[in-house]
Amino acid sequence: MEDNSTSEIPNDSDPEAHTSNSQKKRGRPKNMLWDNHFKEINPHGDGHKGWECLYCKGQNSRATDLNMNTHLALNCKKVPVNIKQELLRNFPVPNQKRKTKTELDIITSAQPRIDSKFQVISKLDAGQEELCHKALTRFFVCCGIPFWIVEHPFFLDFCKNLCASYKPPDRKTLSNDWLSFETARITVTMEKELQNENNLTL
Ligand SMILES: [Zn+2]
Repeated sequence: MEDNSTSEIPNDSDPEAHTSNSQKKRGRPKNMLWDNHFKEINPHGDGHKGWECLYCKGQNSRATDLNMNTHLALNCKKVPVNIKQELLRNFPVPNQKRKTKTELDIITSAQPRIDSKFQVISKLDAGQEELCHKALTRFFVCCGIPFWIVEHPFFLDFCKNLCASYKPPDRKTLSNDWLSFETARITVTMEKELQNENNLTL
């Protein structure tokens, strides 16, 4: 493949981006990865969109932006290195707002609202929240803590006492979105460090 490294960037002036695909039914912006790296499949014939990787022919019957990015950036054995690196460097930050009513809400609302008693609740700054999620992910992974703990009422109670505004992700978001995001970030960091090592020894 030629230099396609910028292909992930949406390009409004590209007429092809707006035409031809019969699959744009749900009104969401189209994931640009479809254009060059994945073929749409529908293995169960149930209206759910799945993908097949154009490089390794790997398949997933439920396409999401996350599992497409994760496949190419972290799992695919045949994707060209420049594309893999481009995706690793631009790995999407997990979007918390996608889940409105999670199990977490149910659990927390059943608990006494410590935040209303001891701390003035103010919305956590988005950057600060991202740092918390990253630190939480590292803690869970590096210490081998089971992901379900993140929804345990005692753990939530502990978090609320530390910072009333911080709401940890639910177990699925932690074990999928944030784990992939951190893995991508750490891979890029390690590559940079190895690059520096090489430069030092040259
Ligand atoms: Zn693949």
